[in-house]
Amino acid sequence: MEMEAILAEVAAAVEPHRGAGKVASYIPALAEVDPRKFGIAIVDGQGRYHCAGDCDESFSIQSISKVFTFALALERVGPVLWKRVGREPSGSPFNSIVQLERENGIPRNPLINPGAMVVTDQLIGDRGADAFVEELLALLREEAEDDSVFIDDRVAQSESETGARNRSLAWFMKAFGRLDNDVETVLSAYFRHCALAMSCRQLARAALFLAFDGRDPVTGRRVVASRRCRRVNAMMMLCGHYDNSGEFAFRIGLPGKSGVGGGILAIAPGKGSIAVWSPGLNAAGTSQVGAMALEKLVERTGWSAFV
Ligand code: GLU
Repeated sequence: MEMEAILAEVAAAVEPHRGAGKVASYIPALAEVDPRKFGIAIVDGQGRYHCAGDCDESFSIQSISKVFTFALALERVGPVLWKRVGREPSGSPFNSIVQLERENGIPRNPLINPGAMVVTDQLIGDRGADAFVEELLALLREEAEDDSVFIDDRVAQSESETGARNRSLAWFMKAFGRLDNDVETVLSAYFRHCALAMSCRQLARAALFLAFDGRDPVTGRRVVASRRCRRVNAMMMLCGHYDNSGEFAFRIGLPGKSGVGGGILAIAPGKGSIAVWSPGLNAAGTSQVGAMALEKLVERTGWSAFV
């Protein structure tokens, strides 16, 4: 069946559910988004786009950015990264602090909030937060083949103003000596990368290298080494949805990463990259209708990481 027909089926299947779930309100700027939005984009190995719904509307990618920072850190920082962050599923919410106390300030994995802060701290190194944010933005623009990808400063500001919880996590790690930079330097970079604004089309395109062993199949550019790409996908499969990761793997069977802006990135190795967006979240912060759409998509395409 043609992909366009499959996407029409996916859109029809989620139509009665549009608006389901709860839009994140702990970041006030995110609460302003229309809960009925729904978009999906798939990019395949030939660089062909298959899109439906609000696929060209920018949304806040939030924690999906952690996939890109983690991939960059594996490439740049290398194995010393694992002295600061683990690689086990957390089984806890994204902003949980108890595990940090039990495990000497070392976050369980790079895709929960404290883990992503450690990654960000390592990527900042001694060059300052702005240089790191600029580099990340440039990478995403290049891989999305679209210079209109931007950082929504209003969202970053909104998260910073209400960021007591993330500040606590960062200070807690600082107390254990796990962050090299000042807490506010790390948080300013973290809030900004979470505030990246991208459309489904841009996001799916930017992550295409993850479906092709670290190499962009359209430009031929190697973004990360093949073995590192596999590790990013392994972490997404195990930890991409916090304490909802098992459920996502069970239902969808693809490496994925959620964001509280309602986006989900999913990787179909050797097939393509998928971005879906619908702002209403389940209790674990994964888009409810987005997951539903992906479930329908894999049912119709047969895509799975396990075949
Ligand atoms: N910026 C969000 C936070 O730190 C990201 C959480 C998410 O998207 O899952 O709370």
